[in-house]
Amino acid sequence: MAARPKALAKFPRRVTVYDVGPRDGLQNESRTISLEMKLEYIRGLKQAGLAQIEAGAFVRPDRVPQMADSDQVFRAISAEKSFAGPTYWALVPNRRGLERALEVGARAIGVFTAASESFNQRNIGMTIADSLAEIREVLREARKLKLQTRAYLSTVFGCPFEGEMSPKHAIDAAQRLLDLGAHQVSLGDTIGVATPKGVDLVLPKLISKNPAARIAVHFHDTRGTALANTLRSLEYGITNIDSSAGGVGGCPFAPAATGNLATEDLVYMLQGMGIETGVDLDRLCETSLRLHQSMGRPLSSRYLMAYAAKC
Ligand code: MG
Repeated sequence: MAARPKALAKFPRRVTVYDVGPRDGLQNESRTISLEMKLEYIRGLKQAGLAQIEAGAFVRPDRVPQMADSDQVFRAISAEKSFAGPTYWALVPNRRGLERALEVGARAIGVFTAASESFNQRNIGMTIADSLAEIREVLREARKLKLQTRAYLSTVFGCPFEGEMSPKHAIDAAQRLLDLGAHQVSLGDTIGVATPKGVDLVLPKLISKNPAARIAVHFHDTRGTALANTLRSLEYGITNIDSSAGGVGGCPFAPAATGNLATEDLVYMLQGMGIETGVDLDRLCETSLRLHQSMGRPLSSRYLMAYAAKC
């Protein structure tokens, strides 16, 4: 193995990228795409080397029409050889959602709640306590069935209704999800307000009590701080990072603003630092460009813009 520059010694050698584009991304886009295009997009991510892909959600189709075809997506993934390899994650809000996911072959499950009470009430119409009670049941069932599990915690660094969040509150909520048995908790900056200082206030406590492998970060680039926050998280030994191909997925509370950190921007930075991701950046860009074209969506990933402009 090649010697690493001393300045990079504090960073992990390898990072696992969780591409949340097909679910978190598309769910927060106003345009919907055909099942065929969605499957081509997911296959493209696989071919680009992504090993963790969030592919669908088993939520109410009348509330989230973009995810209405998740059963067909998972059926195709289970049946067709061209999808074999990656772990495909299914978001489930409750036990009914889990049942639906299992029926179509999902083996990796995401549950979700928020650090902010107001956000949880408005997003899923439940108190945090009620959502944790439901999550406990879903995780119990998932454990019996030996499924992989991750729990998304929204509004860790700020809430559109409550403003700045208390770090202690977010840390306690994350710990609770881990104690309920989620294999991993993903800390979400839902409205993209975090700065590295916020990372400093939240991560050390969690890292001191849990293996870093049980923690993921999910930054939004709404204000241009996602990569800075990611870099800070890497310094704490975090190796699980959420992003979406092309930065797909706007901000659910501000239609004009961008949302998820783009996988291209993330992978470019990591590759430049000699951190392995297993992702082929050119193939990923081609997949994202096809998706953007078919959606008629303007580009938001900086790397993808440069790639498209061949600069
Ligand atoms: Mg997101």
